[in-house]
Parts: sequence; C-alpha cells; structure tokens
Amino acid sequence: MADVLKKVPVREQEPQVRAKNFDEVCLGYNKEEAMDEATRCINCKNAQCVKGCPVAINIPGFIQQVKEGNIEEAYKIIGESSALPAICGRVCPQESQCEGKCIRGIKGEPVSIGKLERFVADYALENDIKPVGAEEKNGHKVAVIGSGPAGLTCAGDLAKLGYDVTVFEALHELGGVLVYGIPEFRLPKHAVVKKEIEKVKELGVKFETNVVIGKSTTIDQLIEEEGFEAVFVGSGAGLPKFMGIPGENANGVFSANEYLTRSNLMKAFDESYDTPIVAGTKVAVVGGGNVAMDAARTALRLGAEVHIVYRRSEEELPARVEEVHHAKEEGVIFDLLTNPKEILVDENGYVKGMVCVKMELGEPDASGRRRPVEVEGSEFTIDLDTIIMSLGTSPNPLISSTTEGLEVNKWKCIVADEETGKTTKEGVYAGGDAVTGAATVILAMGAGKAGAKGIHEYLSNK
Ligand SMILES: Cc1cc2nc3c(=O)[nH]c(=O)nc-3n(C[C@H](O)[C@H](O)[C@H](O)COP(=O)(O)OP(=O)(O)OC[C@H]3O[C@@H](n4cnc5c(N)ncnc54)[C@H](O)[C@@H]3O)c2cc1C
Repeated sequence: MADVLKKVPVREQEPQVRAKNFDEVCLGYNKEEAMDEATRCINCKNAQCVKGCPVAINIPGFIQQVKEGNIEEAYKIIGESSALPAICGRVCPQESQCEGKCIRGIKGEPVSIGKLERFVADYALENDIKPVGAEEKNGHKVAVIGSGPAGLTCAGDLAKLGYDVTVFEALHELGGVLVYGIPEFRLPKHAVVKKEIEKVKELGVKFETNVVIGKSTTIDQLIEEEGFEAVFVGSGAGLPKFMGIPGENANGVFSANEYLTRSNLMKAFDESYDTPIVAGTKVAVVGGGNVAMDAARTALRLGAEVHIVYRRSEEELPARVEEVHHAKEEGVIFDLLTNPKEILVDENGYVKGMVCVKMELGEPDASGRRRPVEVEGSEFTIDLDTIIMSLGTSPNPLISSTTEGLEVNKWKCIVADEETGKTTKEGVYAGGDAVTGAATVILAMGAGKAGAKGIHEYLSNK
C-alpha cells in the first residue's frame, strides 16, 4: 500500500549504466505500481490539478479509473483532452503544472500525475486502443503547417470534428522537436512518438513531408489555389541564437539544435548510420536550460567529458530540477558563474579552447533574476574540442516574410489571439512556439487546441 505522503517510486536505469547508452532513463510504472499510486489521489471536487493543466485533462477522473484497474477507460478520459499523452507523461514540467497544484503536495509529495498519464498512454499504445474519431467528414479543407505538438493537436482536434486536414511538414520525419530535439533517452522515437502520431493518422489526418511552406508553396497559394479554407501555423521556433563572440564560426562549434538533430533525427549515435558528428573528447555546452541539459547528456553518451558553462548560479538554472539532477548523476560537470569571452581556434580552423571569465551576482534585472557581473581579472582558458551553444531559439521568419498581411512582433513571433489563435490575416491561425517563442510541449498543445476551436468557429460561421 502506498505511503500517503510519498510517491510510489518509479524505476530508472542506474546512472553509471545509462550514461553509456541511449535507452530511456525512466522505466515507468507497471500496473500494480500505477494502481497503488492512484490510491493517493483524493479525487478533490474542485480539482486544482486540472486548473494547472494547459489542456485541462480530467485528471481525477482518469486516476479514479486507474485505481479500479480500468486502464482503457482512463485512456478514453485523457483522450478527450490530449492526443499525445505518452509524450506529455514523459516531458511535461508537471512540477510547475498539474502536480504543482496537487493538494497532496501541501503536506507531502503530490500525486505522480505525469507517471500515471504515461502508464495509461503506454498501455494504450501496447494494446493498440484506438482514439475516437469523427463519424463523417464535413467537407471543409484545412491546412496545418508543422507537425510538432501544436500542429498535431490542432490537426487531431479538427479531424475529430470532421474536417479534411492535411499537415505540411518541412522535414522528412514528423514530430517537430519531439523527434529532432528531445533525445531518445528521454523520449523514445519509435516506441512512443511515432506510435502516438499513428493515432493522429487514425483520426484521418493526412501528412505531407518535405514541404517547406514559404519555399515549396506559400500560405496564399494554399488558400487561393489549393482550396484550403483555413490554415493553422505551428512552425515552431527553430532558429538558434549565438553569442557573437570571436571564434564562433570555427569547426566544432554547434548550435544545440544542430547537434541534437544530428544525433536524434540523423541517428549519429547509432554506429550503423554514417551521420558525421564531432563527438569530441572535451565538450562545453553554453547555457543552462533543458536544451542545454539534453545536449550535454547526449555528448556524454557519445563518450566526451562534458561541462555546462552557465553565467548565473545553480539557483537560477532554467532547466527542470529533474534534468539537472539526472545530468549530475551521470557525470556532467557544472561550471557555474562562468561566461565565455572568446573561442580559441587552431591553424586548421578547429576549436582548441575557450576563454572564460568568472561572474558574481548583482542586483535583479528585468527578468527578476540577479544580474551576473564579471569579476575583474578572473579570465581563464579551458581546453576544448567541441562547443555547443544553447542560448535559446526564435521563430524562422520564412513563413511571415512570404505571407501577405501576417503580422509578427519584434522577435519575429506571429501575432495571434491566445483564445482562438486568430492572426492578422483572415483564415490564418497560429500557435505554439511560432507565437510564444520557445516554450513547452503542453503549451504548444494548448495553443493547437485553441487554434482548432478558432478555425471551427470561423468555418462554422462562414
Ligand atoms: C532539445 C529540446 C528539449 C526540450 N525539452 C522539453 C521538455 O522536456 N518538455 C517540454 O515541455 N518542452 C520541451 N522542449 C520545448 C518543446 O519541445 C517545444 O516548446 C514544442 O515542441 C513546441 O511545439 P511546436 O509544435 O510549436 O513546434 P515544433 O515542435 O518546433 O514543431 C514545428 C514543426 O514545424 C516545422 N516547420 C517549420 N517551418 C516550416 C515550414 N516553413 N514549412 C513546413 N514545416 C515547417 C518544423 O520542421 C517542425 O517539425 C524542448 C525543446 C528542445 C529544442
């Protein structure tokens, strides 16, 4: 019987073992463990956890079904709000959303909502439980740009309402950051992402890969020449930022996105693929977010000594606590309060080191975090052969610059209404990272849902 104050522990690969492989770190609950953990939910009438979930899953409802062992019923309840529960159960920041609001968390640990969601979703994938789709099509054609969580959710919701939906994806694989960004050891691609996308296909959504909107065709052409009555833009924020310091163009300097794409999408970690990647023997990842942790843990698994170089202290690290904890356990070294000044390059144009300075924290800045200030005379050099810049990303301006009347803000994010996804161009809706800048899977899914609702209202009234 579960201890009411503590989560039923979840099984994980041992740190020394997993630091050398790309298999999933967390092994999840089995049915017995899930049913045991579900008994900790007190089924609050005014459930705060639901308010903390951007797609408002009926959390107490599905957990009560798990408690009784009705896993298929639990999956149906989750499916009413989310098309990607096996993904969300793995990568959502539950500690600041549903679990952050759980009443159990006041005196002890919150209910392990994420791990229960993951258990139910994996059960549905293993047992091929089908999602419930529309009985017939309504004859309206909608285009969705991008197959990340925003696009997949919008497409799935519209298909459930009977729309004829086509998703256009620039890459050869579907899934957006779920396939090219988040590493295999946190989110398995074949066992989870592909299978969950199959469920969206089962709703009747069509997919066209290798179509770059803005180059292969444009939004205006989709509407004027191809008969699409509405378009949802879920093209993400994949354009990396750099520091602008000397030496940044050297061989061996990557953006985190490129490094992770080579490893995840192009399988550089798998010896049977010939994708080149500079594995490096000594790697520095500059930045302290989740993406930096993913890049660091990937480089570690490729055999390198890895340093996270971050200009603030541990308290300000933007990455999830769980990710920092896993990275430390696996042997990633944290060089905190450290800022790069210059990349040193050898005579062949390859990275040979990085000049850094030590920092201390001053007064809070506009973000509310204490501003890092350089310590005079603290310059030092680290020998390195690979540097991965993980400083954030912004939306690629290709779509906005090729679409008449689509307004963007100064960060090139598409201007769209939060409730409906409506943009400044008639019939065009948008959501996810393309609108907010880099955020989270579940926020992108929430925006995809809002976009589907907005498009449904628009086409119903047209
Ligand atoms: C390495 C990494 C780790 C992350 N870890 C987490 C995590 O643990 N938890 C979490 O919640 N969030 C995480 N995030 C953030 C999260 O993945 C994103 O917020 C989310 O994927 C955004 O979804 P989206 O659908 O808006 O965009 P994306 O997932 O970026 O998908 C956009 C899609 O649009 C396609 N596209 C772009 N331009 C065009 C075009 N012109 N024509 C056609 N297609 C186009 C892209 O190829 C892509 O497939 C992580 C991000 C990264 C990079």
